[in-house]
Parts: sequence; C-alpha cells; structure tokens
Amino acid sequence: MTPPAAPLHMVTRFAPSPTGRLHVGHGWSALLAMDMARAAGGAFRLRIEDIDGTRSRPKHVTGIIEDLRWLGMEWDGEIIFQSQRLDRYDAALEQLRSQGLLYPCFCTRADIQASLSAPHGPEGPVYPGTCRTLPPAESAGRIAAGAAHAWRIDMGKAAARAGPLYWSALPFPVRDIQTQVIAHPLLHGDVVLARKDAPASYHLSCTLDDAAMGVTHVLRGDDLRGATDIHRLLQALLDLPSPAYIHHPLLVGPDGKRLAKRDGSIALADLRAQGMDPALLAADLRAGRFPIGIAPARA
Ligand code: GLU
Repeated sequence: MTPPAAPLHMVTRFAPSPTGRLHVGHGWSALLAMDMARAAGGAFRLRIEDIDGTRSRPKHVTGIIEDLRWLGMEWDGEIIFQSQRLDRYDAALEQLRSQGLLYPCFCTRADIQASLSAPHGPEGPVYPGTCRTLPPAESAGRIAAGAAHAWRIDMGKAAARAGPLYWSALPFPVRDIQTQVIAHPLLHGDVVLARKDAPASYHLSCTLDDAAMGVTHVLRGDDLRGATDIHRLLQALLDLPSPAYIHHPLLVGPDGKRLAKRDGSIALADLRAQGMDPALLAADLRAGRFPIGIAPARA
C-alpha cells in the first residue's frame, strides 16, 4: 500500500519532550524544520510531548520556549500540548482494541530482561510476547483486580492486517527527491501503545498528532528512523495520511557520543549564559557549523 499523497501546503513541526533543556542539536533540528516550511510558504508548528508524567516538567516547557525564542524562532498557531489530548489517544486505543489488535501486558521490566531468549531489534530487546497468549478471562480478571498493565500491539496480526507498507523519504540535506522506503514494523515486535505509567506511548501520540496537525514533512533525528516503521503501520491501521520523512544525523560531542539533554555544556541555555550571540549561532547552525567539538555523526 503506498502512502496517501501529502497535501500541497507544507507543514513541518518540532516536537520536543520537556525532560530537560534543549541542546545545540535540538536547535539545529528545529531551525531546519522551520526553514523548510518557510521556504515552501508553509507552516511550522510546535508540539510539546508532555505525557510522560514521570519525566516531563513544566519548568522545561518554559525553558524550551525560552530557548527557541532566544534562537529567533517563531511558530505558527497555538502550541500543542499532548497532555491536553488524552481523549484522542484513548479513542484510537479503543479503535485498535476493538479490532483485536491490542492486548494487556502485565510484565515488568525485570520480567522482560529475564526472558533470555528475547530477540534484539534495532532499538534493543524485542518483547518476547509473554502476555500475548494469556487467556482473555485471566487478563480481564487481573485488570479487574487492579493489576498494573500496559497495552501492546499484536504486531504480527497488525502487520498482516495492513499488508506491505512504504513511507516517503526525502534525503538529508533536504532535496526534493522522494523515494519510497519499505516499512519493517515486525522488526520492533509488540511495542507498547499505552504505558503502565502514561496514557499513551510516544508512537501512538506522535502518529495521531502529526496527522491532526496536518504535518506533511517530519524532520527528525536518525535515532527515530525505526520509529517511522511503527508510525507508518499505525497510519495504515487508523486510516491516517502519511507525511514524508527526513532523518538528519545526530550531533556528537568531542567524545564521539551523541549529545544528550543531560550534557549541560552544550545546552542552548548555557551558550546563552556564556553570552553567545543567538543570531550568529543560528546562522552557523543553518550553515552546518557547530560549536567546537560538535559535529554530525557519520553515517
Ligand atoms: N519528542 C521526541 C523527542 O524529544 C521527538 C518526537 C519526534 O520528532 O517524532 O525525542
């Protein structure tokens, strides 16, 4: 099944999780997405992915907005907060559940680690499917007794239901050359769509919101390339349009490790505190020049 054609009006977005301050790599990604939309006369949107109640912090929401404004960025329309869209995620979960594609999973992290035969996918161990075969009456009983559970997708069933899938890719640096890439959702196993500790997973909320916001081009880091397999599948199951995807390299520091929010040294807020001129920084990032020691990872 080829993805439905994207509408002509380009919409891009930046979708940070408020779990720390933004670093130079986030600033670079956000600028690229904004510039891409502006160059096409389209819109650039900001979405705060704040449904992870254990790690999201309001102070980081404020920090993200401050950092982006400091870098000279502006977005179109209201900021979308995922924490205000939980009913949408619930409705989609219900839709998938009623199609028999979800099952409750009671496993703890330790249970999954302990299952030595678990195969590994691109993002670590693949869930071995322990709860997929629980008798429905047993699952219902455990839920009624208040057992903590996540909801997982039965990937084999879902992929068979959707049939062969492709997503549209643009190269990075961005050029208008679309290729069709085969989606491999089965590599990721029965991923979680509603977490024990959060009402929806990143995969579900991101896919639904990109569609609801009319996003036509998703520009994000290479670390999320695997997620695109899953998002493409969810689009097919939920009858949503499929944007084009551009995956840019992640930035690495002097030690060759990818930048992380915990590396305070390259947070935009720190550069600002050090007196860096944001207009010059933005111009450098746009030209692919990074602060000393920082560079895109080699493919
Ligand atoms: N919220 C995700 C993150 O901060 C990014 C989501 C996306 O771009 O799809 O890593």
